[in-house]
Amino acid sequence: MALLQISEPGQSTAPHHHNLACGIDLGTTNSLVASVMSGQTRLISDQNNNSMLPSVVHYGQDKITVGFDAYQYTTTDPTNTILSVKRYMGVDYSEACEFKNLPYKLVKNGNNVSFETSIGEVSAVEVSASILSALKERAEDALGGELKGAVITVPAYFNDAQRQSTKDAAKFAGINVLRLLNEPTAAAIAYGLESGEEGIHAVYDLGGGTFDISILSFNKGVFEVLSTGGDSNLGGDDFDNLIIDDCIRSLKLSHLSATQIQMIRQLARSAKEELTTKDSAEFIVDNKSYQISKPHFDSLGEELIKRTLMLTKRAVRDAGIKISEVKEVIMVGGSTRMTAIRDRVGEIFKKPVLCSINPDEVVAKGAAIQANILAGNKSRDDILLLDVLPLSLGLETMGGLVEKVIHRNTTIPITRAQEFTTYKDGQTGMSINVFQGERELTKDCRSLGSFELKGIPPMVAGRARIHVEFQVDADGLLSVSAKEETSGVKSEIVIKPSYGLNGAEMEKMLKDSVVFAHEDILLRQLQEQKVDADRTIEAIDSALEADKALLDDAMLNSILKAREQLLSISKSDDVTSIKNATLNLEKTSAKFVEMRMNKSIMDVMQGHSIDEFN
Ligand code: ADP
Ligand code: MG
Repeated sequence: MALLQISEPGQSTAPHHHNLACGIDLGTTNSLVASVMSGQTRLISDQNNNSMLPSVVHYGQDKITVGFDAYQYTTTDPTNTILSVKRYMGVDYSEACEFKNLPYKLVKNGNNVSFETSIGEVSAVEVSASILSALKERAEDALGGELKGAVITVPAYFNDAQRQSTKDAAKFAGINVLRLLNEPTAAAIAYGLESGEEGIHAVYDLGGGTFDISILSFNKGVFEVLSTGGDSNLGGDDFDNLIIDDCIRSLKLSHLSATQIQMIRQLARSAKEELTTKDSAEFIVDNKSYQISKPHFDSLGEELIKRTLMLTKRAVRDAGIKISEVKEVIMVGGSTRMTAIRDRVGEIFKKPVLCSINPDEVVAKGAAIQANILAGNKSRDDILLLDVLPLSLGLETMGGLVEKVIHRNTTIPITRAQEFTTYKDGQTGMSINVFQGERELTKDCRSLGSFELKGIPPMVAGRARIHVEFQVDADGLLSVSAKEETSGVKSEIVIKPSYGLNGAEMEKMLKDSVVFAHEDILLRQLQEQKVDADRTIEAIDSALEADKALLDDAMLNSILKAREQLLSISKSDDVTSIKNATLNLEKTSAKFVEMRMNKSIMDVMQGHSIDEFN
């Protein structure tokens, strides 16, 4: 029989009023679930006392297995054993095909990815859902009831599509998502940094396959992600590979089968983990013994560690702070157990790192604390959390330019609106193309989706007022609406892009925006000047069509000449000449514009007395 529980003084004493909630760290390599029980944040383990669930799903002919049971099949049935599914969430098929040496087969599923297994095609969302289901079941067994909801963590750099896919997976698993929470923020909560002083913190997360560095600021009770960085292809697996290569070299192994390599991989990983507490490790392959010392392993890993330190410094720079301003450095991810890493990270920040909470568990624990609050078991004012947008959001304007509506690193949730107008006289529709990225031209940014605003009443170009609103919710999902103010016609979309960006691509987009900044500004000026020229020519053409009769031959000829001159130069790349020719056409036709204005006033006044207009 279960023991009766007595709660901490000051904590809720009525267990039946407690809403069951948990925090889930849905990791690339391992996943965990934690919950706040009687005021204590605890990891929930399986029957064998393992808190970690390997993020692996095996699709057998008659059974789907998850976790440790599935992990065993990585050597015996690799084609039906899906590892690292997190990498495929919200990712485009063609992008996923660039991942190398996959033991399983990818298939196209719309824009997204599915895996070919013995039971048919399974999507990335479904694989994740199986992992989430296993964790949900584990939590409900331990907590003795149905979950009210869960907080699921995601990397801070996850984009819309990746966040949406995570939510979809939770829905499949029958989990009510209280909130998606950024992993570094969860770690900071686990360390209780929100009850401490205001300041800036760094979260260094080296997991199985990924490295993430985040700079957080804690200010007025709010966490804000100042910057994120990292490498989506650098993690504990790379340290395993170093041992595998070293082993193959020193034992002179050749013609290894895929199964043998998988086996060496498991041995190498265990050896690596042993080296955090021992001076050497060994294992046997093919009846030959392989031995590795800690100093040798450290020297092999030097380049990888250096790379993480370089990325760390870059994230500090991106956050616009000095390294000395960082108060606490939190270590997250199983790979930060390696002492060499703790030491080196401590050296660059010139202070000891925080690693008292098990680095595998810290994210799940923070998520559990947040879930407990969101489920209504504590005052909601306890922590208010904010995150930031990793890339700017904007829309396409004339000439293939991107007008940014919400800038990168803006804290979310946020709503921002901007006014746009029509380009042509009598224009009744407008297509709103939404882009993500830092560059000035649409072709260098990423399209997120588009929709049309129809039924704008015909007006003179530039008269319509289109109010476009971008709204990003707390989970980082975007909706865009457009409304024509004078008529009230409205249209909107919720952006669920069908594919996402991986960390490396995002890194490239950010880097390019810096490298090409000057070039981009010049290009933007040129594009804007061209749009201006086209608009001026169009305005003159429609004025001539209506009121040519007002002009004498000399005036008409000089306008036509100025128009011709602008037209011939407007396709060139000479900004100054286009600008001068545009100004010249405007100047030459100024008199004509005035004559038209007078005429239209006369037309309006025909048959009325001047008093009526006073
Ligand atoms: P993820 O966030 O990617 O799911 P984890 O944070 O669980 O990953 O980290 C898994 C990685 O941590 C694996 O590469 C594993 O080998 C490594 N790891 C776990 N324990 C140790 C250890 N004692 N020494 C070195 N690496 C370790
Ligand atoms: Mg992790």
